[in-house]
Amino acid sequence: MQKIILLFSGGLDSLLCYYLLKDDFQLKVIQFYMPFLHIQDKDEYIKKIKMNHNIDLNLINISEKYLEILFNPKFGYGNNLNPCVDCKILFLKEAKKIMEEEGYDCIATGEIPGQRPFSQQKSFMNLIEKEAGVRGFILRPLAISTSKINFEIDKSKFLDLKGRSRKSQLQLAKKFNINPIPSPAGGCLLTDEGYCKKVMLLRKVFKNNNLPPDYFEIIKYGRVILINNEYLIVVGRNKKENKILKNFSLNIPSVPIHLSEIPSPFILVLPKKDISPIKDKIINILKKYTKKEFHEKIKIF
Ligand code: SF4
Repeated sequence: MQKIILLFSGGLDSLLCYYLLKDDFQLKVIQFYMPFLHIQDKDEYIKKIKMNHNIDLNLINISEKYLEILFNPKFGYGNNLNPCVDCKILFLKEAKKIMEEEGYDCIATGEIPGQRPFSQQKSFMNLIEKEAGVRGFILRPLAISTSKINFEIDKSKFLDLKGRSRKSQLQLAKKFNINPIPSPAGGCLLTDEGYCKKVMLLRKVFKNNNLPPDYFEIIKYGRVILINNEYLIVVGRNKKENKILKNFSLNIPSVPIHLSEIPSPFILVLPKKDISPIKDKIINILKKYTKKEFHEKIKIF
């Protein structure tokens, strides 16, 4: 039985690949984790994938390596801060390492030529294979004619899709009883304009590229306000966000501000340093998001 690594994104296309491959191949399903995914709790996420699809997902954190390409991608960005070509090269390089170390035969992906993002244009797909050094080791069960693998395979079980239509994927999802049906790809915050604006604020404060990956997690939540080009203030917008920010404050270098005696937002200041020069500005932010009747009680030190 051939051994295949399946690159999973959490989206429908790679999930369909799992269902197409699972009975005939020995599969290792991996998803590379970086802080720009819509995953709040990694353990919960893995449990959910197991519960819904019986997949033993290997979630592999490559955040540090990802941040090395984020601000200096060799092949540029998509519409926002998404360095899709460099991102896929990185994923495939990392998958190739595992393939070689653990004796797998090829890497399967849910790519379909002509789909979003731009890295799924055929010319980019070729470039990515070449740069990642995986020519001859890529199986695309949804676009079988673009696959180049060094062993015989029964192609009749696979599809040969192209373009943006979702009709065939939805029919297949129905056949496999997939419910609820996830979005085509897993969802990446680097394609989200609002989130990318927050990333640029973070970069303004830290200037260099060596930002801790956890800071990109924090700014997924709350309002993010830049003060004096030196501090980033993250303000919880509701109870759920306040709780999440509080949890971050326990493990991540930052200055937490919370007035427990009045209903007010939880605030995290990045980086962890003396906040006395911006004390008044923080008080004004707290006043803005706290009911007037409590303003007199707002004191931070
Ligand atoms: S959308 Fe995000 S995860 Fe997907 S290829 Fe582009 S950068 Fe990578």
